[in-house]
Amino acid sequence: MSEAIINIKNLTKIYDDVPAVEQLSLSINKGEIFGLLGPNGAGKSTTIFMLLGLTEPTSGSIKVCGIDSTKSPLGVKQRVGYLPDDLGFYQNMTGLENLLYTAQLNGISREVAEKRAHHLLNQVGLEDAIHKKTGKYSRGMKQRLGLADVLIKEPEVIILDEPTLGIDPKGVRELLHLIKKLNQEKNLTVLLSSHHLHQVQQVCDRVGIFVKGKLLAKGTLNELALQLFGNDNYVVHVEANPITERLLNEIKELPEVTYVNQITATSIDVFCKKDITPTIAKKFMDDEIELSNISKKNYGLDEIYHRYFEGRESNETA
Ligand code: ADP
Ligand code: MG
Repeated sequence: MSEAIINIKNLTKIYDDVPAVEQLSLSINKGEIFGLLGPNGAGKSTTIFMLLGLTEPTSGSIKVCGIDSTKSPLGVKQRVGYLPDDLGFYQNMTGLENLLYTAQLNGISREVAEKRAHHLLNQVGLEDAIHKKTGKYSRGMKQRLGLADVLIKEPEVIILDEPTLGIDPKGVRELLHLIKKLNQEKNLTVLLSSHHLHQVQQVCDRVGIFVKGKLLAKGTLNELALQLFGNDNYVVHVEANPITERLLNEIKELPEVTYVNQITATSIDVFCKKDITPTIAKKFMDDEIELSNISKKNYGLDEIYHRYFEGRESNETA
């Protein structure tokens, strides 16, 4: 049985009459990596502030590790590591000194702190930079130090607000890999926010799509695809030369086909209720047209995200 470690019910935050977060309900299980995905201004940081008890909700309830964030923010702080999107270190202190300082603030003895700090700095790949002043760290190094910093008090949950912001692609891959590794080794629960679909897709067990304060959909990628695409859950990508008008019409008329998207003169995407790759392939072969590629496409988060937003925008303007 999965056990909820973060429990959010009907959470709303209103700033100046405008809701930043609206009726959000979400539970996150122990050991899960959950991605809060949404464009700027969606309400991700506001949600995180409420989880940490840094901002009071207008209404609704939040429990983290069984503790009410609004009533006992300090209790939550003890168990949750938080990496803000604008993390800062003392520039004139080294990586090691910064970690030891955080440990001291958290009431950890010097001896324990030294041990943990060295171990963590190794884990995040900063072993060669422990005595370097953090003012000289790159953005990627700072984010890795930030991870070590949130882990020094051995939290049960870590909350990372846009952890990959401003890091180059290689740094992003390393950081995400590290997050996954920590999650697996320590059964650490991770909530991360991002507006980068591809990155979230790489590490998250589940994602929630958040737009204008509302959680539009949540689940695993497969569940999201089903929720968002409904019946036309298969896409067959076809490249052939030529794709004749007659064939195109025949494909459109197949009972399983819901929609055909012509990408170029020689390529189409066929949206269908069942995987009918063989049927489509046969049509081309019967007409002796050379098929250079026919493959079933899987929906990525990218398609999910875009299609969802496109759908919403057209609903809103309608
Ligand atoms: P995200 O982190 O997803 O980019 P935020 O949670 O920062 O989004 O912001 C959500 C909305 O709430 C935005 O419209 C933002 O302008 C508004 N907002 C955030 N903080 C405040 C504040 N302290 N006062 C007024 N409005 C705010
Ligand atoms: Mg934010």
